[in-house]
Amino acid sequence: MNRNKNKVEVKGNSSSRKRRRLVVVSNRSPYYLESVGGKIHMVRNVSGMVTGLEPVLASTNGMWIAWGNAPQSCSLDICRIPPDKPTFDLKLIPLDLEEVKHFYLGFSNSAIWPLAHNFLGRTAYLEKDWETYLQVNRKFAAAVAEEAKPSDLIWVNDYHLALLPQMLRSMKVRAKIGFFWHIPFPPLDIFRTLPWRREFLEGMLDSDLIGFHCRSYVQNFIHAAKDILHRDVSFAKGTVVGRRGRRTLVQAFPMGVDYCGIQELVDQKEIQEAARGIRRDMGSEYIILGVDRLDYSKGIPERLHAVEKLLEENPEYVGKISFIQISVPSRIQIPEYYRMKQEVENAVGHINGRFSRGAWTPVRYYSRSLPFDELVSYYLAADICLVTPLRDGMNLIAKEYVAAQDPQKGMLVLSEFAGAAEELEKAVIVNPYSIPSIVRGLKTALQMHVKERRLRMNHMRDRLRRRTVEKWGEAFLERLTLCSTAHKTITRKTIRRKKT
Ligand code: UDP
Repeated sequence: MNRNKNKVEVKGNSSSRKRRRLVVVSNRSPYYLESVGGKIHMVRNVSGMVTGLEPVLASTNGMWIAWGNAPQSCSLDICRIPPDKPTFDLKLIPLDLEEVKHFYLGFSNSAIWPLAHNFLGRTAYLEKDWETYLQVNRKFAAAVAEEAKPSDLIWVNDYHLALLPQMLRSMKVRAKIGFFWHIPFPPLDIFRTLPWRREFLEGMLDSDLIGFHCRSYVQNFIHAAKDILHRDVSFAKGTVVGRRGRRTLVQAFPMGVDYCGIQELVDQKEIQEAARGIRRDMGSEYIILGVDRLDYSKGIPERLHAVEKLLEENPEYVGKISFIQISVPSRIQIPEYYRMKQEVENAVGHINGRFSRGAWTPVRYYSRSLPFDELVSYYLAADICLVTPLRDGMNLIAKEYVAAQDPQKGMLVLSEFAGAAEELEKAVIVNPYSIPSIVRGLKTALQMHVKERRLRMNHMRDRLRRRTVEKWGEAFLERLTLCSTAHKTITRKTIRRKKT
């Protein structure tokens, strides 16, 4: 799909919001360089985040600042984007190999990622990684400080850049700062194992607004601020009072999907034909689909084990169900991820060796990333989408599947530990740590009466239609804009008055 087509009108009722320029800062760039036939092109990184924020950036002539190398055609480090119809600026910050190793693969993905997903046994807290994290955050802060105007709205995106708000304040950046944390925020007992927990929280808390996908992550964060930093907090109002009386608002903004864009794809004849082709090719009565980045948080080995158990305990399904797993290789330079790839491939071989009959294979495994339109044809082809992360900030696959599927035919089997489960409670909810629970969930979904299927799917689809990714971005920015008036810094006098 060309998601560029799905431009949305920027609504928003605040005229002041319309005048404010948006500056997005993220580790990953919305566009990357690709060499085709000796020529360098800027290619769009398909992600919900880009879909949600690009229209707002375009309407405010905004700027996106991210890690990357600028093409040689750009004389400065800033390019106008998209290349075919430039509407906003992209400023790229190059990182050297040491920085990538210790900031990205190290602190971000070997300390914070496992910590946030409750995998304490997988965390590596290394001084060198922390020092590089500080260094790269400073690098980003300097680049933002150079560009930011007091009237801008700055959107800092995700756990790679947690220290940015505090660094920007110390550089006298006066713009409103919103921070969005996309992964889970762990419970206090887990978060407190981070040796730099104080610095980390202080870094985030110089934001005016901090957003999470789920209410439970908001509560965990406020709890940490109260217990570790001894801040004045209100769980009910979602506020943390910081240094010099600055009040930070902490709220849940569950991210949605591009519902209309998905409907446009589903209506295309080529995509419907591709879906029929997938079904023909599999030659099974039922298709179960799993789609994930290959990450230990996604619970892929457990899911494969559940498929094996389903076939072992229910021989009537042998020859009738096929499980398609699409795994997108990720962070393969980290040994944990490499080992997992091998473990998953061995498990696929084991199940296929054990159950295959004639032309029928129980598991079809793809180790690559599919373009979004092709992925939608898999969503359409699947009777069940099996989404069983052990922990996941949100999980957009679950939402995209429900948005794409025919409500009479599909069903979602969803982990109770995916952020999406807070909104998609009409899915068949399972405990991904329990193989019998996944097997029961699969059987419930396979045997569900069409009437119940329709009721549940329509309930979930209504929600997704109302809470799109565009509305998510708008809601966060509207709230951030309001922070400038309704959430002024509390003066010392107000604090004294409160205490008496
Ligand atoms: N995706 C894709 N092609 C693929 C697999 C995934 O375009 O082959 C997209 C998918 O549409 C979704 C995103 O990657 O929007 C994955 O998001 P999710 O929240 O499920 O997981 P994350 O990778 O962010 O942990």
